[in-house]
Amino acid sequence: MSATKGVALVTGCAQGIGRAIALRLASDGFHLGLCDLPAKREAVEELSLEISRTRSHAGSDIRTCISLGDVSAEHEVQNVVGSVVESLGGVNVLVNSAGIAHDKPFHEITEQEFDRVFAVNTKGTFFCYKHAAQRMLKQGSGGRIIGISSIAGKRGFALASTYSASKFAVRGLTQSVAAELGSHGITVNTVAPGTIDTPLMRESIEESMRVTGNDEGLVKSLSTHSSALGCLGKPSDVAGLVSYLASAESRFITGQTFVVDGGTVFD
Ligand code: NAD
Repeated sequence: MSATKGVALVTGCAQGIGRAIALRLASDGFHLGLCDLPAKREAVEELSLEISRTRSHAGSDIRTCISLGDVSAEHEVQNVVGSVVESLGGVNVLVNSAGIAHDKPFHEITEQEFDRVFAVNTKGTFFCYKHAAQRMLKQGSGGRIIGISSIAGKRGFALASTYSASKFAVRGLTQSVAAELGSHGITVNTVAPGTIDTPLMRESIEESMRVTGNDEGLVKSLSTHSSALGCLGKPSDVAGLVSYLASAESRFITGQTFVVDGGTVFD
């Protein structure tokens, strides 16, 4: 392990942004703990093989550990962190990319839907931060905790009320936890992606087409035309920022939420 940068645990890594982050952190030299829902085992195994194949071609000895679980259940998160520690020797970086979208007119949202969005996006972030932090505090060598908010966590958008509220909460949690853990050398930051081309974003587009009656081209162009760069983002655009936040160079940055959205929401 001395030749690597340590161990990074990435949740929601079976697809989309989490997958790109896992690949990027492996190429940065981290051993990888790979977490997603048990139903995504096949995709996570494929990712693990891809990491081993590409890293051994590059001459680096990157190890992976697959640890499946639902981030909305605390005991499952505890088990995920425990098995990554057992298999890879610790956790130095946590990236919680697991999340669900929810696009629906506000007045039609049920209590169950509200609870599920908060259970995954907000409580899931809380559990992942908590159990990674406990481990990092025990290790005593600092660490990097990174959450995924959204531009909908910076300002509200129509049809995204519950999602938006759950992602605002991620920012609040990040700020408070950063204030508590800073003296231990643990930084806590969040990235806020705009419209990134992933399965989750494609689901949102379909839902928006259903609710508004607009066709796919119009829904996509409404979203890209509202950005300065005028195009969709790629998962690797988010992974690049996460890579920096996971690195030693970011040591003086904590409690922040960084927008990566092609210029849609300006702070
Ligand atoms: P995605 O749906 O493509 O991937 C999310 C992954 O999380 C999936 O593999 C899924 O199985 C996993 N997951 C879902 N619920 C889980 C749970 N309870 N426990 C463990 N794993 C779970 O989504 P994505 O677009 O890659 O989004 C990743 C993160 O980025 C999410 O938090 C999302 O809210 C956020 N985000 C995405 C966009 C975008 O445009 N794609 C924009 C802003 C924020």
